[in-house]
Amino acid sequence: DVILRGDFDNSYEITVDYGIMDEVVSDLCDEKFGCTPVVICDENTRELFGHELVEKLAVKGVDPLLLTVPAGENSKSLDVFGSLLEAMLEAGITRQDVVVALGGGVVGDLSGYVAGSYMRGINFVQVPTTLLSQVDSAVGGKVAVNISGGKNYCGMFYQPRRVYSDISALDTLPEREILSGLGEVVKHGFIYDRDFVEFLRDNAEKVLKLDKEVMSRVVSRCCEIKADVVSRDEKEGGMRRILNYGHTVGHAIETFAGYKKSHGECVAYGMRIVARACSKAGILSGDDLELHDEVMDRLGLATGDIDIDPSLIMELMKRDKKVKQGAVVIVALDKLGHAVVREDFPLELIEAELKDLS
Ligand code: NAD
Ligand code: ZN
Repeated sequence: DVILRGDFDNSYEITVDYGIMDEVVSDLCDEKFGCTPVVICDENTRELFGHELVEKLAVKGVDPLLLTVPAGENSKSLDVFGSLLEAMLEAGITRQDVVVALGGGVVGDLSGYVAGSYMRGINFVQVPTTLLSQVDSAVGGKVAVNISGGKNYCGMFYQPRRVYSDISALDTLPEREILSGLGEVVKHGFIYDRDFVEFLRDNAEKVLKLDKEVMSRVVSRCCEIKADVVSRDEKEGGMRRILNYGHTVGHAIETFAGYKKSHGECVAYGMRIVARACSKAGILSGDDLELHDEVMDRLGLATGDIDIDPSLIMELMKRDKKVKQGAVVIVALDKLGHAVVREDFPLELIEAELKDLS
């Protein structure tokens, strides 16, 4: 178990294992986190896990409220947020009850914002079912919905009481979603833990086969790293920004591609580009760049050229900066396993790498 401690009202546990849905059921029946569970799923996770969870709870005499949203990013909207709150009120949900997010990052971000807002905040438990949500979005307490002006622009910091990551859930995940999650997995190694990067390189085949032992270690280590970073800087004043490695460029590629490419894939390209630029700038050694690229090759991340317009990507990065009122912030690596936040990074080096890849 990873225990997330920090400057929060309460620390909480992240349990990573395979086949832990029964533990979720027994904790919910125990009313460990609240009386009536409000289980929020999307259409896919309802079929895969939602009905089963509800049945298991029913057998034990617990009658949860099951709420389903359409699958996909569009559900992270104020409309869907509002309709969930209305449905909970109508069902008589009180402050003593608990919201259970059963799904990927979309369900987690949306449900967390619902939990944090309903009657000024009720208990919240996360059961992340995608690799990306297990290694990233379910840890750290950022919850949000999108508004037309920007992604995640309406939200809050709201920590769950507990996170249950079931590795078995990954078995049904489409390859595209696995790769998206792996982008964030290697990121954690690149910014924080060289040994973990080597572990990923040496176990790449098992990772791609979703070997249970290996994936338990992978997910746990990512949670530890993210928890460590976040607990030092919950509200993102400084250190937390290193988690954005590959993201400044990645977001621009994501926007350019009209969100047709997965988030992790775009971040993977972002990391490749920044690492090469770091090496050209003389910050990152050639050996480190080699290992950086080798692990990504073995995992099948951001291999090959992509169809992008380099100058438009640069424009998008600068536009993003205007919104945030500051310089273009690039998270750079000064060695593999260590990141530095730079506001003065030579952007022309990034543009050159973009041209090289396109
Ligand atoms: P997602 O929640 O849309 O899930 C991807 C797809 O997989 C969906 O169609 C979903 O129904 C399906 N799915 C979920 N679990 C499954 C399973 N076990 N088997 C088969 N299919 C399954 O996307 P995601 O990649 O998990 O999350 C992306 C979201 O996370 C974005 O909105 C992003 O902004 C957010 N995010 C938040 C943070 C944070 O700190 N809060 C960090 C990173 C990303
Ligand atoms: Zn990300």
